[in-house]
Parts: sequence; structure tokens; C-alpha cells
Amino acid sequence: MSYKGTIKVNTQNIFPIIKKWLYSDKDIFLRELVVNAGDAITKLKKLSSLGEASFEETPRIDVICDSESKTITIIDNGIGMTRDEVERYITQIAFSGAEEFIQKYKDDKEENQIIGHFGLGFYSAFMVADKVELETKSYKDEPAVLWTSDGGIEYTLSESKKANRGTKITLHISEDNKDFLLKERLRSILLKYCGYLPYEIYLDNEDKCVNDTEPLWTVAPSECDSKDYIEFYHKNFSDFNDPLFWVHLNVEYPFRLKGILYFPKLTHEFESAQGKIMLYNNQVYVADNIKEVIPEFLMLLKGIIDCPDIPLNVSRSALQNDGTVSKIASHITRKVADRLVSLHKNNKDDYDKYWTDIAPFIEYGCMQDEKFYEKLKPVMQAKTTDGEYISLVDFAKENDNKITYVTSEDHQAQYIKMIKEEGKKALIMPHIIDVHFISFLESKEGWKFTRIDSMPEQTADDETYTQIFKKALGKDDLKITTSPLKTDIPAIIVQEEQIRRMSDIGRMFGQAKLPDIFTLVLNSQSKVIKRLSELEGEKQELLCKQIYDIARLSNGMLSSDEVNEFIERTAKIMEFSL
Ligand code: ADP
Repeated sequence: MSYKGTIKVNTQNIFPIIKKWLYSDKDIFLRELVVNAGDAITKLKKLSSLGEASFEETPRIDVICDSESKTITIIDNGIGMTRDEVERYITQIAFSGAEEFIQKYKDDKEENQIIGHFGLGFYSAFMVADKVELETKSYKDEPAVLWTSDGGIEYTLSESKKANRGTKITLHISEDNKDFLLKERLRSILLKYCGYLPYEIYLDNEDKCVNDTEPLWTVAPSECDSKDYIEFYHKNFSDFNDPLFWVHLNVEYPFRLKGILYFPKLTHEFESAQGKIMLYNNQVYVADNIKEVIPEFLMLLKGIIDCPDIPLNVSRSALQNDGTVSKIASHITRKVADRLVSLHKNNKDDYDKYWTDIAPFIEYGCMQDEKFYEKLKPVMQAKTTDGEYISLVDFAKENDNKITYVTSEDHQAQYIKMIKEEGKKALIMPHIIDVHFISFLESKEGWKFTRIDSMPEQTADDETYTQIFKKALGKDDLKITTSPLKTDIPAIIVQEEQIRRMSDIGRMFGQAKLPDIFTLVLNSQSKVIKRLSELEGEKQELLCKQIYDIARLSNGMLSSDEVNEFIERTAKIMEFSL
């Protein structure tokens, strides 16, 4: 018996939406159909484990691309459907599901759409096909059925001769979408979305299946070794370097969560560090870097999170307010924090070795997440000018909460030498994020940070010197002071901590450069300075200029013209000493 029916869906509503998808991500039709095939296998396996059906063959999904007949066929040996089920699941649910979907999302803006458009399933076949045939035979002893629909508006249902159990869906690809009829295109879609599906997927009857049915994150952590983790990392994240270390997540209760998060080696500065967290749902790829699910600072890591409990057929804003999602996010954060704390406790040498790479991540995390900060506070550290690593908490305690820091060991070498002569040390904080982290710690802990090239504590203004220098340099507004410095060089340049920070932050946000206000600190212990007032005329002027330039030189502040001038002046001074 064969009859015709009409699907009760308003086509005027559906097609604009389907068309809209065509522009955003039409590849997902294949994911939807292959995932349905996988679900059909899972259902049959379940029944077979309960003794209600037999499943002797190897579960298998086939994708066949036929460019001659312009079809793509998806075949599974899963549970299949009876005639009733086709009417109920395909005709009613699929299409009424589509209608419901439209009602729900018709006013949504692009950015608020559901993640990866989960939810329309079978109907997405019509994104690329103008005719779809579904032939299916249930595990129950019932005749096979053939369901056909042209364009998804009307369908016919008839008996089929299909002899083996399972479902075969044939898509007659429309003219506009004929580029899907390329085998390699289909392979890359399958690899992207179904590369880790638990059942073997064969493309055009090749000998080897396309996917890896047992990805590392599904294996018990006790059965994985470093080699496996590193190999998996290289396969999934195009990174030339090995990862530093990783966290294997494996939770069954109160939600299901599996995954592996890697700490990458940073090759460049912090800003260019691009993490990538791929979200999977039961071994099916959903999307990258979903910030509603994964705390933002974790995006600096690379990894895979597989969580079947995340509701993917809701809008992004709903996801953000979902209780399970926020529990998952805080679980992941806690696990990452635990891993860092245990590395610090059990393998301090590695922790030190990785510090430069992980510091930006930890600092960012601390600023973003209060709980993360509380956990990490005891293991926060920095390298000192003596070359060892010291805990920030200990350093603050030892120094009455007054912390001197260095941002560049090269540019601030002179100051480092001075502080060493005084028997003191400073913390090396070279990352761009450190500027923010320092302010964060100051407000959080009440510590006070001062860069090594800030104003020395003991200073005195000496009018005689001020006049000599102002005249010689022709700089009326230059600030000049004196201090007994522990160095042989006659002067240094310093900048007020707060002013420098403001201009650093301004620079970071691309604001116009604030005028830099520097102070020239003359070393009252220096022989040259002491005798400077005894000199006169050209000699005095030359020396003043030279002293000023030496101070600026060690800060990398001389322009190329000024370097030339400096060299010529040096030659002149050498003549004097002959
Ligand atoms: P969803 O998968 O979200 O339920 P779909 O529109 O993709 O929605 O499918 C509707 C229903 O049709 C499925 O729930 C399933 O019962 C049935 N179905 C779809 N594809 C298959 C298949 N390959 N084998 C067996 N049943 C299927």
C-alpha cells in the first residue's frame, strides 16, 4: 500500500531559515545524519545487551558519494524503523520539530543562535538535497519502508525490498550544492565533526575507516602514558612544540565530563598565545572556544572537552544561565588549579621550568576567578634577580609588603647591579600581563610594587647641580635630584612608578603616548659628580651631556642621532684626557 500525505509545516517560514543556515554552516547536514546513524546503532546495542535484539555484525556507518547520480548515501546497521515509526519520528517529529524550532528562533539574531544548530536533525538533509529517500528496516519482524520527499513539503510512503536491518538515506544533491559531491570534501567534514564517533565510518567502501572510535579522552587515565598524550596533542592541535603538561578530566557524577586539557608552550608573548578548546558531545564535535561553557582564561589552553550533559539546543544566553553548565565550568577550573598545585608540590623543578610559560595563564586566571586565585595563591611565584624562584607571599612577607620588580633584565641591568650591591633582590616580572597583575595584587593584598628604576628612597635636591645640568643640557623642565647610589656610574634616569604604569597601560590600549616624565638622579657618591662643579665652560658642558646620555643609554632611550652625537662627544672627551 502506498499513499501521499502533506507535511503540516508552513514552507514560507521554513525555507528562509534553511537558506540562512546555508550561508552559515551547511556542512552540518552530514553530521546530523551520521549522528542519527550512530544513535540508531547505540539503541540496537542497548537492546541487544538486554537480550531483546541480536546484533552480531560489527556496528558500521557508510557514507557513499556518487557524483554520477549526484547522490550522497548514509547507511547504518542500527535499529531501523517500522512504518509507524517513520510516520511518527520522521514525518511528525522531524517536521513539527522544525516548526517548533522556527517559532523559537525566528526572531533570534545570528549571534544568539544555538550552538552548531543542534536540534533539527534529519530535516537538515534538505539544506543540500532537493529530494530525500529514506529506506529502513526495523529490527522487529516488519516489512521495510521507503519514504520519499521532494523538497521536504510532501512525502510518499511505500513498502521497500530492503532485506537487511538498518537505515539508508539517499540525498539527491541539488544543483546549488553540487560541490558536496566531492569525496575529499565529505572526508574533511566527517573528520571535523565525526572524527571521534564511537562507531566506524567508512567513506566509499574504503578499507580503513575515517574515524578514531576510541579517542584518548575516553580511555581511563591510568591506561594512558605521556607518549599517547603528546601524540594526541600533535594530531589535534597544530603545534610544533610538545605540550608542557596536561589534565585528564574524567567525571561520571553529578554530570558526565571527559576531556584532556593541555598547557601549551608559549612561543611568543602572551597576546599571541592562542588556545583552542574543542567542545564535543558524546564524541561528536560541536564547536571551538564556547565561552559560555568554558571560563575565558582556560581558552589559553588547548584541549578537548566532551560533555553530553550540556544542553546544546538552547540559545547562548540560556546556556550562560544554565546551572549544569556553570557547575561544569567550575569543575574544570578546580581540576586545572589542582593540577598546578600538585605539580608545584610534587615536581617543583618542572614547575620552575614551566613557570615562564604558565605564569601569564595563572595570573590571568587569578584575576578572573576568585576561587582560582585562592587555590593558586600559595604557589604563585617569580624568579628573583638572584636567579631562584620565590613564592610571592614569602617575598612580600620578607620585604614588609614592599616589592621591587624588574620588567627587563637587559634594559634594567644597571639597576639590578645596584640592588645586588645593596644585598637586596627584586622579582623579575617580564610579561605584559604582569602590569595588570601587579595592580591586582596591590588592591587584593595591600602589597606595594615599585619597579627597580623608580625613584631611590634617599634623595636630596642640590640647586648648584640642578643649575649646571639645566644650563648644559638646555632643558629647563628636566627634573634633577641627587642620591648616594651604590654604583660607579654618575647618574641614572628614573620614572615615578604611577606615571610609568599609566603610560604603559595607555600604550597597551593604543592610546596616544603620554609625555614621559623622567628624573635624572645624580650619584652623590660619584667622583665625576663631586668634581663637576670645579670644571668650567666646554669641559663642564661636555661632561654633563655625557652623564645624561650614559644614564639614558642604559635604559635604551637614545635615538640613533643621539647615539652618533654620543660617540662624537666621547671622542672629544678622550682627546681631553690625553
Ligand atoms: P533527533 O535526532 O534530534 O531526535 P531527527 O529529526 O534527527 O531528530 O530524528 C528524528 C527521529 O527519527 C530520531 O529520534 C530517531 O528515532 C529517528 N531516526 C532518525 N534517523 C534514524 C536512523 N538512521 N535510524 C533509526 N532511526 C532514526
